[in-house]
Amino acid sequence: MSAASTSAEANAVEAKNLDLVFQTRDSPVHALSEVNLEIRRGDFISFIGPSGCGKSTLLNCIAGLEPITSGAIAIDGRDMTTVSPKDRDIAMVFQSYALYPTMTVGQNITFGMKVRGIEKNEREEKLLKVAKQLQIESLINRRPGQLSGGQRQRVAMGRALVRDPKLFLFDEPLSNLDAKLRVEMRTEIKKLHQNLNASMVYVTHDQIEAMTLATKIVVMKGGIVQQIGTPSEIYNRPSNLFVADFMGSPAMNLIPAKVTNNGKGTKFTIARSRGEPLILFDDNITKLPENIVLGLRPEDIGDANLRKGDKLQISTCSVDVVEPAGADTYVLINLGGKEVTARLQAETAAQTGMEMAFTFNMDKVSYFDAKTGQRLN
Ligand code: ADP
Ligand code: MG
Repeated sequence: MSAASTSAEANAVEAKNLDLVFQTRDSPVHALSEVNLEIRRGDFISFIGPSGCGKSTLLNCIAGLEPITSGAIAIDGRDMTTVSPKDRDIAMVFQSYALYPTMTVGQNITFGMKVRGIEKNEREEKLLKVAKQLQIESLINRRPGQLSGGQRQRVAMGRALVRDPKLFLFDEPLSNLDAKLRVEMRTEIKKLHQNLNASMVYVTHDQIEAMTLATKIVVMKGGIVQQIGTPSEIYNRPSNLFVADFMGSPAMNLIPAKVTNNGKGTKFTIARSRGEPLILFDDNITKLPENIVLGLRPEDIGDANLRKGDKLQISTCSVDVVEPAGADTYVLINLGGKEVTARLQAETAAQTGMEMAFTFNMDKVSYFDAKTGQRLN
């Protein structure tokens, strides 16, 4: 990473071997380990993972708010490792909107420009443009105390937008909003990204938010990056059991299975609470270890009566629970000592206690090593 490489092709952000250890009174906290990351211009990147996995810490490192223990960070091809936050040309939006309570909406949005000595005319012009974009024109003279949570969030966004930064950093900006408003604001943020053509980094613990917004998702756990990929790669080809389990709702079914090589392919034996084991085959894979975990998304298990003609494997299983969910019906079956979720059409005839033929789409299956949790196919 050379400081002179500012060019049209430079990445928006590059992090190399980032390590961050917080020294606390008891024991040091290793908040980030060996993080490597490339964010291209115009990308929308989501950091996702459970609480405490290091998402905010990583974002703060990019912003320059948190000094790193070792490694390097470049923004737009320039080494920024030791550059102060105000000189990084970034704008941040936090979960707590951090608005000045005594200032009006307009003053909150233009305050930064005023500090930087930008003239009144230009400030007003930018304020109007951004207020229009965010549909808060009628709120410009109100104070934060006179706004709803969603409106405050818009003002916080407005303050970031008037800066025209190359890079936006968001830390769970929608967490304080109710469910309906979150969905609306999510769409608005996506539109903003499409219109502004800026690079955005977005921290969330909500996997639907990450899937719907991001061009690329970074899944983290315990300060370690687990996988970086497009939403489709993360969803269809999770790199390990943690990612498989974390992304998707209902979660991917993770079914323990015993492997036998049968010469031309592989046979999987899956124990059941009663009756014969379930047997599945895959002719496209060999050399799996003896104990694996077979990953199938709920939509990859179907109702054989409603899905004829597909090249799917069919087997009879007994239905434990039926959960109608409007557009789909979820059915639980017990396989490999686990409740496995099948996502069936609403018109399925499935009923609790029934023996029924299910399809298993082995084209979509993920295999994981039962010992290491790593993806095998
Ligand atoms: P996330 O945003 O993913 O919920 P954070 O990045 O805030 O997680 O925190 C990552 C880890 O670092 C956690 O274990 C947290 O307790 C710890 N941590 C964060 N900030 C500090 C700090 N200033 N001092 C000590 N430990 C911290
Ligand atoms: Mg956080």
